[in-house]
Amino acid sequence: MKKSLIAGNWKMYKTPNESIAFAKMLAENIKLYDDRDILICPPFTSLFPVSRMLSGQSCLKLGAQNVSFEHEGAFTGEISTVMLSEMGVEYVICGHSERRNIFGENNDIINKKVKKTASAGMTPILCIGEKLEERENGKTFEVIGSQIKESLDGFAQPERLVLAYEPVWAIGTGKNATPEQAEEVHSFIRELMADLFNARLSENMKVIYGGSVKPDNIDSIMRQKNIDGVLVGGASLKADSFARIVDYKA
Ligand code: PEP
Repeated sequence: MKKSLIAGNWKMYKTPNESIAFAKMLAENIKLYDDRDILICPPFTSLFPVSRMLSGQSCLKLGAQNVSFEHEGAFTGEISTVMLSEMGVEYVICGHSERRNIFGENNDIINKKVKKTASAGMTPILCIGEKLEERENGKTFEVIGSQIKESLDGFAQPERLVLAYEPVWAIGTGKNATPEQAEEVHSFIRELMADLFNARLSENMKVIYGGSVKPDNIDSIMRQKNIDGVLVGGASLKADSFARIVDYKA
Protein backbone atom coordinates (compact mmCIF):
# COMPACT_ATOMS: atom_id res chain seq x y z
CA MET A 1 0.00 0.00 0.00
CA LYS A 2 1.30 3.44 -0.92
CA LYS A 3 0.89 5.70 2.10
CA SER A 4 -0.03 9.33 1.57
CA LEU A 5 2.23 12.05 2.94
CA ILE A 6 0.79 15.03 4.80
CA ALA A 7 3.59 17.53 5.40
CA GLY A 8 3.57 20.81 7.29
CA ASN A 9 6.11 23.47 6.31
CA TRP A 10 6.37 25.89 9.23
CA LYS A 11 8.61 28.28 7.26
CA MET A 12 10.21 30.96 9.49
CA TYR A 13 7.59 30.71 12.22
CA LYS A 14 7.79 29.48 15.84
CA THR A 15 10.66 29.81 18.29
CA PRO A 16 12.12 26.64 19.84
CA ASN A 17 9.80 26.89 22.85
CA GLU A 18 6.75 27.57 20.71
CA SER A 19 7.71 24.65 18.47
CA ILE A 20 7.99 22.21 21.37
CA ALA A 21 4.59 23.23 22.73
CA PHE A 22 2.99 23.02 19.28
CA ALA A 23 4.55 19.66 18.35
CA LYS A 24 3.47 18.26 21.73
CA MET A 25 -0.09 19.39 21.08
CA LEU A 26 -0.04 17.83 17.61
CA ALA A 27 1.42 14.57 18.91
CA GLU A 28 -1.34 14.37 21.52
CA ASN A 29 -4.22 15.34 19.26
CA ILE A 30 -3.55 14.06 15.78
CA LYS A 31 -5.20 10.79 14.91
CA LEU A 32 -2.92 8.07 13.60
CA TYR A 33 -3.64 6.26 10.37
CA ASP A 34 -2.00 3.25 8.79
CA ASP A 35 -2.36 4.77 5.35
CA ARG A 36 -0.74 8.17 5.90
CA ASP A 37 2.59 9.56 7.08
CA ILE A 38 2.56 12.88 8.92
CA LEU A 39 5.56 15.15 8.64
CA ILE A 40 6.42 18.45 10.29
CA CYS A 41 9.19 20.73 9.02
CA PRO A 42 10.06 23.28 11.74
CA PRO A 43 12.82 25.88 11.34
CA PHE A 44 16.41 24.60 11.89
CA THR A 45 16.58 26.04 15.42
CA SER A 46 13.57 23.99 16.49
CA LEU A 47 14.64 20.63 15.02
CA PHE A 48 16.74 19.47 17.95
CA PRO A 49 14.30 20.34 20.77
CA VAL A 50 11.33 18.99 18.81
CA SER A 51 13.23 15.82 17.97
CA ARG A 52 14.03 15.26 21.66
CA MET A 53 10.46 15.93 22.66
CA LEU A 54 9.17 13.44 20.06
CA SER A 55 11.75 10.76 20.74
CA GLY A 56 10.19 7.37 21.23
CA GLN A 57 6.97 8.48 19.52
CA SER A 58 6.49 7.48 15.93
CA CYS A 59 3.43 9.53 15.03
CA LEU A 60 5.16 12.60 13.62
CA LYS A 61 8.11 12.48 11.28
CA LEU A 62 10.62 15.29 11.17
CA GLY A 63 11.76 17.23 8.11
CA ALA A 64 14.06 20.16 7.39
CA GLN A 65 13.23 23.06 5.09
CA ASN A 66 16.63 23.27 3.45
CA VAL A 67 20.15 21.79 3.54
CA SER A 68 23.66 22.46 2.27
CA PHE A 69 24.96 20.47 -0.68
CA GLU A 70 28.42 20.58 0.89
CA HIS A 71 29.54 17.93 3.36
CA GLU A 72 31.30 20.13 5.89
CA GLY A 73 33.77 22.99 5.94
CA ALA A 74 34.01 26.76 5.84
CA PHE A 75 30.45 27.44 4.70
CA THR A 76 29.17 30.06 7.12
CA GLY A 77 25.47 29.80 7.85
CA GLU A 78 24.98 26.41 6.20
CA ILE A 79 23.58 23.21 7.78
CA SER A 80 24.81 19.79 6.64
CA THR A 81 23.01 16.50 6.04
CA VAL A 82 25.04 14.89 8.85
CA MET A 83 23.78 17.52 11.30
CA LEU A 84 20.21 16.91 10.20
CA SER A 85 20.46 13.12 10.30
CA GLU A 86 21.80 13.17 13.83
CA MET A 87 18.65 15.01 14.92
CA GLY A 88 16.34 12.37 13.49
CA VAL A 89 15.43 14.30 10.34
CA GLU A 90 14.06 11.96 7.67
CA TYR A 91 12.96 14.40 4.93
CA VAL A 92 14.42 17.59 3.44
CA ILE A 93 12.46 20.09 1.35
CA CYS A 94 14.65 20.95 -1.66
CA GLY A 95 13.99 23.84 -4.02
CA HIS A 96 10.94 25.37 -2.35
CA SER A 97 9.79 28.30 -4.52
CA GLU A 98 10.74 30.71 -1.72
CA ARG A 99 14.31 29.36 -1.90
CA ARG A 100 14.28 29.64 -5.70
CA ASN A 101 12.68 33.07 -5.97
CA ILE A 102 13.92 34.94 -2.88
CA PHE A 103 17.33 33.30 -2.34
CA GLY A 104 18.27 32.62 -5.95
CA GLU A 105 18.49 28.83 -5.87
CA ASN A 106 18.53 27.39 -9.38
CA ASN A 107 18.07 23.86 -10.70
CA ASP A 108 21.84 23.18 -10.51
CA ILE A 109 21.99 24.00 -6.81
CA ILE A 110 18.79 22.08 -6.14
CA ASN A 111 20.14 19.08 -8.08
CA LYS A 112 23.14 18.96 -5.71
CA LYS A 113 20.89 19.27 -2.64
CA VAL A 114 18.62 16.43 -3.83
CA LYS A 115 21.63 14.16 -4.41
CA LYS A 116 23.28 15.08 -1.11
CA THR A 117 20.04 14.49 0.83
CA ALA A 118 19.38 11.08 -0.72
CA SER A 119 22.98 9.92 -0.36
CA ALA A 120 22.77 10.77 3.34
CA GLY A 121 19.81 8.38 3.65
CA MET A 122 17.07 11.01 3.87
CA THR A 123 14.17 11.67 1.50
CA PRO A 124 14.35 14.79 -0.64
CA ILE A 125 11.00 16.51 -1.28
CA LEU A 126 11.74 18.25 -4.57
CA CYS A 127 9.45 21.25 -5.14
CA ILE A 128 8.57 22.36 -8.63
CA GLY A 129 5.97 24.79 -9.91
CA GLU A 130 5.21 27.46 -12.45
CA LYS A 131 4.71 31.19 -11.90
CA LEU A 132 1.43 32.87 -12.80
CA GLU A 133 2.72 34.43 -16.03
CA GLU A 134 4.16 31.07 -17.10
CA ARG A 135 0.75 29.43 -16.61
CA GLU A 136 -0.99 32.26 -18.43
CA ASN A 137 1.44 31.93 -21.35
CA GLY A 138 0.78 28.19 -21.65
CA LYS A 139 4.25 27.28 -20.37
CA THR A 140 3.27 25.18 -17.33
CA PHE A 141 4.36 21.78 -18.67
CA GLU A 142 7.53 23.19 -20.22
CA VAL A 143 8.58 24.81 -16.91
CA ILE A 144 7.72 21.75 -14.81
CA GLY A 145 9.48 19.48 -17.31
CA SER A 146 12.73 21.43 -17.26
CA GLN A 147 12.69 21.86 -13.48
CA ILE A 148 12.34 18.09 -13.05
CA LYS A 149 14.90 17.14 -15.72
CA GLU A 150 17.54 19.61 -14.52
CA SER A 151 16.98 19.03 -10.80
CA LEU A 152 17.20 15.26 -11.26
CA ASP A 153 19.97 15.13 -13.86
CA GLY A 154 22.31 12.25 -12.94
CA PHE A 155 20.26 11.36 -9.85
CA ALA A 156 20.79 7.69 -9.07
CA GLN A 157 18.36 7.23 -6.15
CA PRO A 158 14.94 8.20 -7.55
CA GLU A 159 13.22 5.58 -5.36
CA ARG A 160 14.00 7.91 -2.43
CA LEU A 161 12.32 10.92 -3.99
CA VAL A 162 9.06 12.74 -3.25
CA LEU A 163 7.95 15.37 -5.78
CA ALA A 164 5.86 18.34 -4.64
CA TYR A 165 3.92 20.24 -7.29
CA GLU A 166 3.52 23.74 -5.90
CA PRO A 167 2.23 26.33 -8.38
CA VAL A 168 3.96 29.53 -7.25
CA TRP A 169 0.79 31.59 -7.76
CA ALA A 170 -1.00 29.41 -5.19
CA ILE A 171 1.55 29.55 -2.37
CA GLY A 172 0.51 31.68 0.57
CA THR A 173 -1.94 33.57 -1.66
CA GLY A 174 -5.19 31.90 -0.67
CA LYS A 175 -5.64 30.97 -4.36
CA ASN A 176 -5.40 27.27 -4.88
CA ALA A 177 -5.25 25.30 -8.07
CA THR A 178 -8.52 23.50 -8.65
CA PRO A 179 -8.24 19.78 -7.96
CA GLU A 180 -8.55 19.25 -11.74
CA GLN A 181 -5.72 21.70 -12.52
CA ALA A 182 -3.51 19.97 -9.95
CA GLU A 183 -4.43 16.51 -11.24
CA GLU A 184 -3.57 17.52 -14.81
CA VAL A 185 -0.03 18.50 -13.77
CA HIS A 186 0.39 15.48 -11.48
CA SER A 187 -0.55 13.17 -14.30
CA PHE A 188 1.99 14.93 -16.57
CA ILE A 189 4.65 14.50 -13.84
CA ARG A 190 3.82 10.80 -13.51
CA GLU A 191 4.29 10.29 -17.28
CA LEU A 192 7.52 12.26 -17.32
CA MET A 193 8.95 10.23 -14.42
CA ALA A 194 8.06 7.02 -16.27
CA ASP A 195 9.98 8.30 -19.31
CA LEU A 196 12.97 9.52 -17.29
CA PHE A 197 13.18 6.48 -15.01
CA ASN A 198 10.61 3.72 -15.37
CA ALA A 199 6.90 3.04 -15.12
CA ARG A 200 7.13 1.13 -11.87
CA LEU A 201 9.06 3.87 -10.11
CA SER A 202 6.64 6.49 -11.41
CA GLU A 203 3.65 4.49 -10.19
CA ASN A 204 5.12 3.88 -6.73
CA MET A 205 6.53 7.32 -6.03
CA LYS A 206 4.69 10.05 -4.12
CA VAL A 207 3.70 13.20 -5.97
CA ILE A 208 2.18 15.64 -3.51
CA TYR A 209 0.43 18.99 -4.01
CA GLY A 210 1.07 22.30 -2.24
CA GLY A 211 -0.53 25.72 -2.55
CA SER A 212 -3.09 27.12 -0.11
CA VAL A 213 -4.25 23.70 1.07
CA LYS A 214 -6.87 24.22 3.77
CA PRO A 215 -9.44 22.17 5.70
CA ASP A 216 -12.10 23.15 3.17
CA ASN A 217 -10.26 21.94 0.05
CA ILE A 218 -8.21 18.98 1.32
CA ASP A 219 -10.86 16.33 0.66
CA SER A 220 -11.34 17.23 -3.00
CA ILE A 221 -7.57 17.45 -3.55
CA MET A 222 -6.96 14.04 -1.98
CA ARG A 223 -9.67 12.49 -4.14
CA GLN A 224 -7.53 12.99 -7.27
CA LYS A 225 -5.98 9.84 -8.64
CA ASN A 226 -2.41 11.13 -8.99
CA ILE A 227 -2.23 13.17 -5.78
CA ASP A 228 -0.49 11.25 -2.99
CA GLY A 229 -0.45 13.89 -0.29
CA VAL A 230 0.02 17.58 0.41
CA LEU A 231 2.66 20.09 1.47
CA VAL A 232 0.96 22.67 3.67
CA GLY A 233 2.32 26.06 4.74
CA GLY A 234 -0.04 28.48 6.49
CA ALA A 235 -2.64 25.92 7.53
CA SER A 236 0.00 23.74 9.22
CA LEU A 237 0.67 26.44 11.83
CA LYS A 238 -2.61 25.94 13.66
CA ALA A 239 -3.34 22.63 15.38
CA ASP A 240 -7.03 22.45 14.46
CA SER A 241 -6.55 23.15 10.76
CA PHE A 242 -3.56 20.79 10.44
CA ALA A 243 -5.45 18.06 12.33
CA ARG A 244 -8.40 18.41 9.94
CA ILE A 245 -6.06 18.21 6.93
CA VAL A 246 -4.45 15.06 8.33
CA ASP A 247 -7.95 13.69 8.89
CA TYR A 248 -8.89 14.11 5.19
CA LYS A 249 -11.60 11.95 3.69
CA ALA A 250 -10.80 10.81 0.18
C1 PEP B 1 4.30 25.93 1.20
O1 PEP B 1 4.88 26.57 2.05
O2 PEP B 1 4.89 25.03 0.60
C2 PEP B 1 2.89 26.25 0.91
C3 PEP B 1 2.27 25.53 0.01
O3 PEP B 1 2.33 27.28 1.61
P1 PEP B 1 0.75 27.61 1.72
O4 PEP B 1 0.06 26.33 2.12
O5 PEP B 1 0.66 28.66 2.79
O6 PEP B 1 0.29 28.09 0.39
